[in-house]
Amino acid sequence: MSLRFFNTYSRQLEEFTPRDPTSRKIDIYTCGPTVYSRAHIGNFRAYMFEDLLQRHLEARGYAVHRVMNITDVDDKTIRGAREAGIPLAKFTEQFKQAFFEDIETLRIKPADEFPAATDQRYIDKMIAMIETLMSRGLAYQADDKSVYFRINKFPNYGKLAHFDLSELKPTGRVRHDEYDKEHIGDFALWKAWDEEDGEVGWDSPWGRGRPGWHIECSAMATALLGDQIDIHCGGVDNIFPHHEAEIAQSEGVTGKKFARMWLHCAHLLVDGQKMAKSLVNFYTVPDVLAKGYTGRELRYALLRVHYRTQLNFTWEGMHEARESLERIDDWLMRLRECGASFQPANSGSGQVENLPHNFDDALDDDLNISAALGFLFETIRETNRAMDVDELEAATANAWLSWWERINRVLDLEKETADAIPPEISRLADERARARAEKNFARSDELRDQIAALGWQVRDTKDGQKLARRRT
Ligand code: AMP
Ligand code: ZN
Repeated sequence: MSLRFFNTYSRQLEEFTPRDPTSRKIDIYTCGPTVYSRAHIGNFRAYMFEDLLQRHLEARGYAVHRVMNITDVDDKTIRGAREAGIPLAKFTEQFKQAFFEDIETLRIKPADEFPAATDQRYIDKMIAMIETLMSRGLAYQADDKSVYFRINKFPNYGKLAHFDLSELKPTGRVRHDEYDKEHIGDFALWKAWDEEDGEVGWDSPWGRGRPGWHIECSAMATALLGDQIDIHCGGVDNIFPHHEAEIAQSEGVTGKKFARMWLHCAHLLVDGQKMAKSLVNFYTVPDVLAKGYTGRELRYALLRVHYRTQLNFTWEGMHEARESLERIDDWLMRLRECGASFQPANSGSGQVENLPHNFDDALDDDLNISAALGFLFETIRETNRAMDVDELEAATANAWLSWWERINRVLDLEKETADAIPPEISRLADERARARAEKNFARSDELRDQIAALGWQVRDTKDGQKLARRRT
């Protein structure tokens, strides 16, 4: 079966082909966290589906280059910093760190790049894009000095969300000074500085101000991935207005189709309602860990339901995730015992290449994880039954273990075995701890690089350094 995904733009399942059919390289852009508080597990449902997408594409031989932005300037981050009485960068830094800790706990592969909106390179790019939009009549400066996108001048506006422009209502992300706009749906590209922004602001041809949320993503995506990308992802709440605006801005500047495919995941719910900061019905990763669950269990709970189906978060669901993983762990232990008696001479059956591809085929079908896991558990049931009556050949057990290794590159659900830290790594880490104690940060960074080159990662926590094998 060919690889196909549901494209929000066409509302259809479409065969996936990279924009450069002669190469296996594809570019994916995924909207990342707004770092005004710790991300909740609803956000991580979106990042988890993107992780599954990337890993499956890699399993199918694609080299994925993925960018995830960090929104570190917007109304909420500015308000948070003001309330905390600290500079914006200091305020957002703690939540960036928390985000990186959480993706590690959940075994989500880090993106290749995590551009931050406040990076001057991207601010320059945002300003340049807005200048181009102005020169084409697609943007205008209103009386309030802010610059807005003129949606009536972009005929495709509304195509992604399948929206009738006359139905547009103000959204929470736009500042209340709507009366200055020509059309209620016009969105801010550049927000003129006001007192509430305090120290936050950049000079621009339109005066001091800051970028709107939507232009941040258009600028970072095109700066790092070029005018056109293969896949753009997010949660369904990003479709409108955020992704609609990204299309208008990017295509308004480049004149080229921005993204070939748009994939959006359904929400994680709590008691039938979207999990959201504003509804105060959310859990963070540490909240779930505090209840005695592991990152692996939460990974499974967020992964196991098809990304376009809403998923209700419950503690019972977490318990079921635990039981499912225990079944996998037991099965692997039994297979390993059974496979241990393998003698190369008595091979014959159970070659790896004879094993079915149902798991991978199910994921080819718009990441049908339920069918893929269904096949895994059916396999577990059948092979366990054969092992119960001593009828599974050692060679077959080993073949299933190889199969597991293959599918686990996508699932990443195997139980952690505490990695023994090699003496050389311990020695470098000790030296680094001493360098840090002496505030010799240049040396400490050098040692971090040496440790990284040996395949280990060092993280500074309030309990000191933590070492872990680097995940690839
Ligand atoms: P935000 O930080 O609000 O911009 O959200 C970051 C990402 O999480 C976006 O892709 C959102 O669509 C997604 N998201 C937010 N809430 C949920 C939820 N309850 N379930 C799934 N995805 C969500
Ligand atoms: Zn975005």
